[in-house]
Amino acid sequence: MKFKILTLFPEIFPGPLAYSICGKALSRKLFTIETINIRNFSEKKSKIVDDNPYGGGPGMILKPDVMQKALDCAMKNSVKKKKLIYLSPGGKQVNSEKINQLIKFDELILICGRYEGVDCRFLEYNKIEEVSLGDYVLSGGEIASIILIDACVRLIPEVLGNKNSLKSESFQNHLLEYPQYTKPSNWKGIKVPEVLMNGNHKEISDWRLKKSIEKTKNVRPDLFKTFARKNREIK
Ligand code: SAM
Repeated sequence: MKFKILTLFPEIFPGPLAYSICGKALSRKLFTIETINIRNFSEKKSKIVDDNPYGGGPGMILKPDVMQKALDCAMKNSVKKKKLIYLSPGGKQVNSEKINQLIKFDELILICGRYEGVDCRFLEYNKIEEVSLGDYVLSGGEIASIILIDACVRLIPEVLGNKNSLKSESFQNHLLEYPQYTKPSNWKGIKVPEVLMNGNHKEISDWRLKKSIEKTKNVRPDLFKTFARKNREIK
């Protein structure tokens, strides 16, 4: 999978993506990252890329003409099965379903805003989808891109050593993961539940499902509703 990133700060990448599971996948070329520096496409001597918002107001807006040139450059040698994404608090919030859809593309072109964001005509003209990380405002789209890439990369076959890790993870089947324990079996007087040590796989998986349901109901009633609805549909 290929990620092309339009950014004013290419030096931020690969950043945390160069470590651990993603780092190994990056060095095995299971995914690649290419940055496109938006500033290189300014025609001004000063390399300015933004201007004041029409109608007034604080902050600066990334200019559509500069953004377009940066995007045109990213689109050169682009594959057919690609998707254009603008990381933005104004987008629909990304979830695990969305990540599962995104990994079906061979290439994601990720546009990182700064300041007050980008001129909306650039988004409309290029049919760019806005994707948000959550209901808060970040200073730029770079960290959001890194999170999105990380979430995609761990779903690429061969990236995770143990493929079963994905099966029981949070959000698979619309549930949060069950509580996990490791050695020692008694820590500060808190004992690991007996059922996890008896080797009975059926009892263990029943207990885990029960705990997953309890936790999801408690912490994420919205997610639990989806789980309950999907289960009714299956039955
Ligand atoms: N003026 C914008 C607004 O109120 O919606 C916020 C701009 S923000 C300071 C600068 C950039 O950070 C955005 O253009 C976007 O690329 C990125 N960003 C901020 N919050 C984000 C979020 N929740 N999800 C994804 N990207 C975000």
